[in-house]
Amino acid sequence: MSQFLCSKHLLVKVPYMFIAFSDIRPFHGISALALALLASGAFAHEHGAHVHGTADLDVAIDEKTVTLSFTSPADNIYGFEHASTNAAESAVVVHAIAALRDPANLFTLNGNCQLQTRTLNLPELGKTEHSDVSGEFSYYCTKLPTQIDLPIWGMFPRMHNLTVDIAAPSGQKELRLQSGQPIILK
Ligand SMILES: [Zn+2]
Repeated sequence: MSQFLCSKHLLVKVPYMFIAFSDIRPFHGISALALALLASGAFAHEHGAHVHGTADLDVAIDEKTVTLSFTSPADNIYGFEHASTNAAESAVVVHAIAALRDPANLFTLNGNCQLQTRTLNLPELGKTEHSDVSGEFSYYCTKLPTQIDLPIWGMFPRMHNLTVDIAAPSGQKELRLQSGQPIILK
């Protein structure tokens, strides 16, 4: 990832970290501000900050494979991040996980690609104030896609913005998508 992308990520992260650390009292002479800056720097090469309504997708393309790595606040997926407190909330979680398990609900690649592997990382809700859901989906393609449509917008409408980082043999780029927009790869 280029310095340019990193500095853009930092700009996004710093205000969030200010909020996240705003009620941590300074200790050992380290101010909350310094902690916030340290934290934002430490994660400059990681996914974007945990901001409800936004999510991240890394798209890695090589000769024959496309790997999609998705990370989102659980709030976008379930509508909450606390442990389920009733049957209705439990049902929402079960339904959402079922949707995530079938990437046809999430991504449509216009090449000729077959899903090879799928890994979901689902948080244990309620352990921390905020939780992320992530998944990695790897496709083998006899013809690489030029566009990826995103039915995930309709599946999880609480997600409004998606930051897409693409790494392909032709180079790297970042897209900032809004609800309904596809990923144009070329
Ligand atoms: Zn959250």
